[in-house]
Amino acid sequence: MRGSAAMKILIVEDEVKTGDYLRQGLREAGFVVDLARDGVDGLHLALDGDYHLIVLDVTLPSLDGWGVLQTLRHSGRETPVLFLTARDQVEDRVRGLELGADDYLVKPFAFSEFLARVRTLLRRGRSQEPEVLRSSNLELDLLRRRVIRSGQRIDLTAKEFALLELLLRRQGEVLPRSLIASQVWDMNFDSDTNVIEVAVRRLRAKVDEPFEPKLIRTVRGMGYVLEALPPARG
Ligand code: CA
Repeated sequence: MRGSAAMKILIVEDEVKTGDYLRQGLREAGFVVDLARDGVDGLHLALDGDYHLIVLDVTLPSLDGWGVLQTLRHSGRETPVLFLTARDQVEDRVRGLELGADDYLVKPFAFSEFLARVRTLLRRGRSQEPEVLRSSNLELDLLRRRVIRSGQRIDLTAKEFALLELLLRRQGEVLPRSLIASQVWDMNFDSDTNVIEVAVRRLRAKVDEPFEPKLIRTVRGMGYVLEALPPARG
């Protein structure tokens, strides 16, 4: 099932190009994304799925965004909702916020602004969680999506970031490959754990090998553990 490593977002958008574009952008930013193309499908997914955020277009076939939002809130779901409207009209904004939306964006918008809103809403929803995960001189900043070791910025791919986030969140615990597979790749690997070995090797080469102390350990026959050490400066 869903773990904490990847945040799950539902997009409900009938415009094919916009929906595909937002989905791809969010995936590249490291999120797990589902896309519904009309209001009825969107509502079903929203009620069944375990989403951290819903991006909801207002003008939709079969059931519009207001209907989706209203039904969702009446069912008691508090999932944060960012609604997209094509018109910058006060009534629309007021209506959306009254129905229980958390924020809105007026089309057209820049992807960078969209992503910033998404992150703010996700952060608000998890305000009790730390924004920076640390062990020794390694730190991972969840909000700014960056990793720093001994003061040096390290560039990671979205998967490497998710993997490191998982290891840091559960530091000190031996994580079996199957758990890493399900939480970072959203897949079950029955036998082929090579994907994970390769990813861990690449992650180590970037965040561990050039530095001291070594933090990521292989536990033979079991999995991987990131050592839990007190934060260090420098
Ligand atoms: Ca639309």
